[in-house]
Amino acid sequence: MALVGGIPGILAAGSGSLCGMSPFSRHMSSLPLSHIRLTDPFWSRWQRTMVQNGLLAQYDQLVKTDRLKNFERVAAGETGGFEGYRFNDSDVYKWLEACAYSFGNGSLEPSADLKTKVDHTIGVVACAQMPDGYLNTFFQLMHPELRWRNLSMMHEMYCGGHLIEGGVAFFDATGDRRLLDVAIKFADHVDSRFGPGKRRSYCGHEEIELALLKLAKATGERKYRDLALWMVEERGKRPSPYLDEMIDEESIKLAPYMEKMLCKDGEYVGEYLQDHAPIREHTEVVGHAVRAMYLYIAAAELAMDMDDAALSDALTRTWRNLTHRRMYVTGGIGPSGDNEGFTFDYDLPNLSAYAETCASIGLVFWAHKMLEATGESEYADTMERALYNGALAGISLDTSRFFYDNPLESRGRHARSPWFGCACCPPNIARLIGNVGHYAVGVKDRCLLIHIPVGFEATMELGGVKTKVRAVSDYPWSGDFTLYIDPERPVDGEVRFRIPDWADDVETDIPGLEREAEFESGYIVVRKRWEPGDIAKFKIEMKPRWVAANPRVKDDLGRVCLAFGPLVYAAEEHDLGFEPQLFAADLDIDVAVESATMLEGIQALAVSGVRDGLEFADQLYAEVDDVQIQEAAAKFIPYYAWNNRGANHMQVWIRRL
Ligand SMILES: [Zn+2]
Repeated sequence: MALVGGIPGILAAGSGSLCGMSPFSRHMSSLPLSHIRLTDPFWSRWQRTMVQNGLLAQYDQLVKTDRLKNFERVAAGETGGFEGYRFNDSDVYKWLEACAYSFGNGSLEPSADLKTKVDHTIGVVACAQMPDGYLNTFFQLMHPELRWRNLSMMHEMYCGGHLIEGGVAFFDATGDRRLLDVAIKFADHVDSRFGPGKRRSYCGHEEIELALLKLAKATGERKYRDLALWMVEERGKRPSPYLDEMIDEESIKLAPYMEKMLCKDGEYVGEYLQDHAPIREHTEVVGHAVRAMYLYIAAAELAMDMDDAALSDALTRTWRNLTHRRMYVTGGIGPSGDNEGFTFDYDLPNLSAYAETCASIGLVFWAHKMLEATGESEYADTMERALYNGALAGISLDTSRFFYDNPLESRGRHARSPWFGCACCPPNIARLIGNVGHYAVGVKDRCLLIHIPVGFEATMELGGVKTKVRAVSDYPWSGDFTLYIDPERPVDGEVRFRIPDWADDVETDIPGLEREAEFESGYIVVRKRWEPGDIAKFKIEMKPRWVAANPRVKDDLGRVCLAFGPLVYAAEEHDLGFEPQLFAADLDIDVAVESATMLEGIQALAVSGVRDGLEFADQLYAEVDDVQIQEAAAKFIPYYAWNNRGANHMQVWIRRL
């Protein structure tokens, strides 16, 4: 057994390139969906439940709320009577994308019922597309003469971006190109209207940029990549194309609130939709959080393809601002409901935290792109934080109810909902869960990278040799991870295993290893000749730990947060028998780990402390000396699992004794 110690020093050394600001390059890619299947109890349960329950429940909502009907009516040549928000088409596309991943990830054979519903939906979408490639049921039904009249607020390209992502996902996962063909026709339509020498504008809600980059990869057509690059680079330059929209009567009628969203003291600023400065001048995250994430995903992908230090510098700077000053311990981002986004440094209120589910999902995606671009583990650390906490809290354990906003404290009024008028979050978390393998494991040439130690089975080319890999894991409950590597013939290769930022020690046990494992970029690097039937064991030390916040985060002063492995924990009234706000933890007494049969097999943590007395039966105030406290025990559960037993009080940042 080799014991790995001194992790902080290793991490600091490994992070050197961040200060050197070297341009991004592609350090790895992901395995195709059909080549990796998740097998650990944690993720396989989420993925199975999504196929059995969640995707069907979401389809029912698409029908019930007339989202599908909007397409059916366009396909039937009807006009007028659009139902819902102008961007509702995107929910249909994102649901299709989630279905594509679930069809391809091998978790469970989808039912004939689900397949029929998907078939029907793709057919209706295709029939609704106009001969010139345009597709947006709001404009087709309500304002066919006002297409592309207001790009800042009307989300036509945003919806189209999700169509493209859905089309690419379906093609990748199943080989079915019906939706991809619709997407290509739409993208060609956009390309015919916008770009150099054509109209200069871009969507107020970023999304199509990252989607066009996926389309360029899927089709090999460089023009989609060039259009995405142009949109990313034009954004923030002056004059903003939205100034014309703000004086166009028809455009104002479409979105009368436009000025309020985009101006400050009567002057255009554009921060809300990241139109405040050219991308290479960005220094901090501003405005709507989901939009910001989607922009930076595209920008990071582009930075990988270009020798462009200014772009990678800007992304690194902005990332630092986000993760060092504006991110909740859960990986939630965007504290304010006013702009669904960012405010100022260290402003992280708990009770009123907006922290939209989609924003944490966007952070997972951006973190993954930054990881691809640098190979540095700090991006995987944040990806894991947002995935297991901020994003996963957005969905109930049975996959049928959702949070839009994810506060870190509740006084009993916050509850998940089966759907929303603006329902971006439900299909977004569905597509993330269906595609977790994409984020957890990477490959490059002779290298297998374990970013998150999930259990999986995969087939891959390792140094040109077909290799089967099986990983056995009970993460996030255990840090024991065993890799079975089975190349068809011996091959020189390396395994990179991330050392989580929260781990003190990682042990390795790799029979036949001639030289000691090395450390690079926050990963243990095992280089050897891999023989058929080889085994590599890793053991991350996992124990409960108390976390403090930077004192500039005023809302967390005098408070601590309990964590175990990648999970942030919360105290819920349901387990305490009283409101957790009354509880103060005694950090000198060890926290005990308890297996629990509730909440789909979580591990609970038992904490000792005190609770405030209840001598205030019929009065608001009393002398301090008259107030009694009493010893109390509190059971904590993972934050993602809270609110699965009804609405009740909850707290992440707990008072300390
Ligand atoms: Zn959302």
